[in-house]
Amino acid sequence: MHDYIPLSVTPIYTRTADVIGHLLTVQRHVCAVCRAEAHLYVDRAEDGVTQGLICNRCRQVLEATEDPYVLAGALSYLTLPPAYRPTKEGERL
Ligand SMILES: [Zn+2]
Repeated sequence: MHDYIPLSVTPIYTRTADVIGHLLTVQRHVCAVCRAEAHLYVDRAEDGVTQGLICNRCRQVLEATEDPYVLAGALSYLTLPPAYRPTKEGERL
């Protein structure tokens, strides 16, 4: 389980500041997931490693599940719902 810490309360000293500064530059101050210009949260993995900066909406999605297979399945579902998928015979509903 990751921790999501508001960027505004993250300490601005020690190595964390260097990492966050790097992430802000690499991410161009936008969410690493949806690219929104929003208030960002620091995503910190269980081992304490800072993963990236994400917005509140993406934080809520990732708090619901961090399972990449579920997230990939959700992407597939949203992109091409089963009702629109052809049958083996090439027919659609
Ligand atoms: Zn986002």
